[in-house]
Amino acid sequence: MIAIKENISLQKDNTLHLDVKTRFFTEVHSLNDIVDVTNISRFKNTPILILGGGANILFTKNYDGLVIKNSLKGKKIIKENNNYVIIEIRSGEDWPELVAYTVENNWVGIENLAYIPGTVGASPVQNIGAYGQSLEDTFVSLEAIELSSGKIKVFAKEDCEFKYRDSIFKSELKDKYFIISIRLKLSKHFKSVDSSYHSRYESLEEELKSFAKPPFTLKNVYEAIIRIRQKKLPDINKVGTIGSTFANPFINKKQLLELQKKFPDIQFYPVDKMKYPSINNPNLQGADIVKIPAGWLLEEAGWKNKRIGNIGTHPDHALCVIAYKGATPEEFYSFTENMRRDFKEKYKIDLEYEVNII
Ligand SMILES: Cc1cc2nc3c(=O)[nH]c(=O)nc-3n(C[C@H](O)[C@H](O)[C@H](O)COP(=O)(O)OP(=O)(O)OC[C@H]3O[C@@H](n4cnc5c(N)ncnc54)[C@H](O)[C@@H]3O)c2cc1C
Repeated sequence: MIAIKENISLQKDNTLHLDVKTRFFTEVHSLNDIVDVTNISRFKNTPILILGGGANILFTKNYDGLVIKNSLKGKKIIKENNNYVIIEIRSGEDWPELVAYTVENNWVGIENLAYIPGTVGASPVQNIGAYGQSLEDTFVSLEAIELSSGKIKVFAKEDCEFKYRDSIFKSELKDKYFIISIRLKLSKHFKSVDSSYHSRYESLEEELKSFAKPPFTLKNVYEAIIRIRQKKLPDINKVGTIGSTFANPFINKKQLLELQKKFPDIQFYPVDKMKYPSINNPNLQGADIVKIPAGWLLEEAGWKNKRIGNIGTHPDHALCVIAYKGATPEEFYSFTENMRRDFKEKYKIDLEYEVNII
């Protein structure tokens, strides 16, 4: 029978290293373990939180429920030919290790998602993305178990309702299904790399040229992404952070024109294949929508390198909030709520959390 522990600290299980406690805690290593948990009747009415690496969860207080820590391991090839490979990966595998493994095998498709901390199982939840690539680009399907019934279901790509940093598992089915494994289709042909990605802070092409010569290889791109990220982001083993605390807002053309009066050089991006999560919002219906950089606007509002008590923003990136030693969950949340209030006041735009608030 699976072991359930009580009053356990999650300090090692969240990348902010906040000392929050959970009332109940268990770790699953197999499908049987998950089935065992779903069969425990005393947890039928208890809130359940599935925990991967805790790189996208903001605990604002102790958790009064059951945390299921995911340690399902393993990967296998489902199909392979001269053009592509379909691999199935168990959800407790480490995402950065998976990317390294695919690059090592010369399989193309998730190299720009290198160094994103966390587990494979969380990757579809917010449809992880970076440097122009998103999980959905290579995603085939996933297998998940319904926590209330113990039934296993396969979700095809279209069932997952992927959007920008969003999926059905972050909204309608949040905490209802435990993702067991995912399948990805990766190409065996590395055509000339699209190194055009750039922002105000970084350029993939420039990074590549700093250590390699064209035509760039898959390994070159992988290395360039890691170099950029290491320069840009704090080391999660040393510093408490959840990466980008807020998502980049989507606004309509009218709002953009308003912003441009004040900030003529504001960068904005086409929505492309991404969809706005709340497209029903009357402000946005029928409008031409663009994405604007939250970090840039926060910086303009004076939020870069700002510290209050044990919480502060990164010296170079206002979007990256850091919890210093001794920080409490309440302190962290109060800091980020201040950021949101200030943003709304200055720009009349809602800043939405990218991370899951617990
Ligand atoms: C320094 C840093 C940089 C980052 N950079 C990026 C980036 O470039 N792009 C990006 O997209 N994200 C980025 N992130 C966010 C984070 O890495 C991703 O969201 C990652 O997928 C989180 O994985 P995790 O295992 O830690 O998930 P957790 O934080 O443990 O969980 C996140 C959510 O997914 C749910 N969940 C987890 N596992 C499962 C499962 N098996 N079944 C069902 N639900 C599950 C949880 O309940 C929770 O709601 C960054 C984070 C940090 C700290």
